[in-house]
Amino acid sequence: MRRLTTAKNSRPIRKVRMKNRKTPMRRCVGCMTSKPKHELVRLVAADGVPRVDVTGKANGRGVYLCQDEKCLAGALKRNALSRGLSVKAVSNEDKERILKELIPDAEVRV
Ligand SMILES: [Zn+2]
Repeated sequence: MRRLTTAKNSRPIRKVRMKNRKTPMRRCVGCMTSKPKHELVRLVAADGVPRVDVTGKANGRGVYLCQDEKCLAGALKRNALSRGLSVKAVSNEDKERILKELIPDAEVRV
């Protein structure tokens, strides 16, 4: 016989608290504006290569960016990506890939 009630399952559901909880804010490394986390795209460095964290759950250091080409450009200009992700350098290939992943329907001008 399997017992269905365990101590773990008997935690009260705190619906009211959830409602009042603030949206987590993150700062875009491009324009330095704080925005709700879900409006930003997370970038992580996987094996020293910066890429867009599509799942939002990738391990490692991450930085946040608006879904905006300008923010990516601004972040690259100030080396915010290599600094924030602790990668040595962001290559042109990386930039292109990040841009494509950041804004899938953007017309990539190289
Ligand atoms: Zn931004």
